[in-house]
Amino acid sequence: MNASAAWQHLEPKVAAINRRIDELEWEPSRRNNFVSYRPEMDSPYVEVDGERLLMMSGYGYIGLGGDERVAAAAKAAIDQYGTGTPGVRALAGTIPLHEELEAEVARFTGRENALVFSSGYAANVGTVGALAGAGDTVLLDKLDHASIVDGAQLSGATVTRFRHNDPRHLDLRLAATNPSGTRLVVVDSVYSMDGDIAPLPELREVCDKHGALLMVDEAHALGVIGATGRGIEEHFGGEVKADIKVGTLSKAVPSNGGWIVGSADFLQYLKRHARPFLFSAALAPAQAGAALESLRILDREPERVTYAQRESARFRQVMSDAGMNTGASQSAVVPLIVGSDENAWEFATACRKAGVVGLPVITPAVPPGLARLRIAITAKHSRADIDFAIDAFLTAARQCHLIGE
Ligand code: PMP
Repeated sequence: MNASAAWQHLEPKVAAINRRIDELEWEPSRRNNFVSYRPEMDSPYVEVDGERLLMMSGYGYIGLGGDERVAAAAKAAIDQYGTGTPGVRALAGTIPLHEELEAEVARFTGRENALVFSSGYAANVGTVGALAGAGDTVLLDKLDHASIVDGAQLSGATVTRFRHNDPRHLDLRLAATNPSGTRLVVVDSVYSMDGDIAPLPELREVCDKHGALLMVDEAHALGVIGATGRGIEEHFGGEVKADIKVGTLSKAVPSNGGWIVGSADFLQYLKRHARPFLFSAALAPAQAGAALESLRILDREPERVTYAQRESARFRQVMSDAGMNTGASQSAVVPLIVGSDENAWEFATACRKAGVVGLPVITPAVPPGLARLRIAITAKHSRADIDFAIDAFLTAARQCHLIGE
């Protein structure tokens, strides 16, 4: 690295990361991060380093990545509006396609209005920052996504964490907060590393008891839970509502962008207070076109959702019957928890040799001793693909002595 004095404080951090990567990735087949995958459009297979592998760690839950109708909509958007937007939404950046997409997001999620951001990350940072500030309190589940944590920290509000999926602990935390400002509780509907679901009815009860707002992040819930993929409210029968719902257009919906839904008044306020909305370029036309078409397909083809739900339940069952730890997963995200970081790395390498990509998640993304492969079952995986993956995972797990012969 540059030897100048200006770099001296950074050098130990850079060296430590490089050392850790060398320890884990001492041969090409052990490389798991920043690998470039060439996807097949009509299957869940990818090509990497000349090998054809079955991808089991992607987030295309409803199998629309590579869908010809979605690609055609993205191309039509480019033909009509060009490749970029000439500004932020508040100035020259809004096109009719943004408004059509917002109307569809609002309709699909059952709210009056929607606003789309240029990423899910920006939607969370902007929304939390617009809802809470100095004198307010934001209460976060211990496993909330980083974009929620960052939004809370940037907001200037007091930030408190409560134990994962524990409404009683939230109750205690709320009882100890200052009741004079806004109190905002934020949870993920489905947790991205565990696949478990927030207990919406109990959280709603606790929030109502203390006069707190409840915000849910539907990133891994839209297209995944609820009978027609409408997320956590539908999952719990549709009666119990969150105050604020946000989500992304980069998981079940194969595009980019984030969304928030709510009343027209509230969104008008948000348009003028959410800094990532005000100060970052509008969603590109192709992204908006792809997202709009994907939501329309999701609406017309709910069988994609039920198929992935059924197949993920089967996958979970087979894996846990075989002795693998799938944690508290209740959704298409299924962790295979194997203990140490090294175990996860060895297991991922053995899976790859068996023809399957299962990507490891290690500390600090998960607590020490809970490293895992984070698997997602999607509508693009046929039953035969899933059976092949099951065989590969179990063969690799036996080789790595994670389960018995
Ligand atoms: N929320 C959750 C729960 C997520 O998992 C992610 C992405 N990993 C985001 C928000 C951010 O979404 P995006 O990648 O679209 O910015």
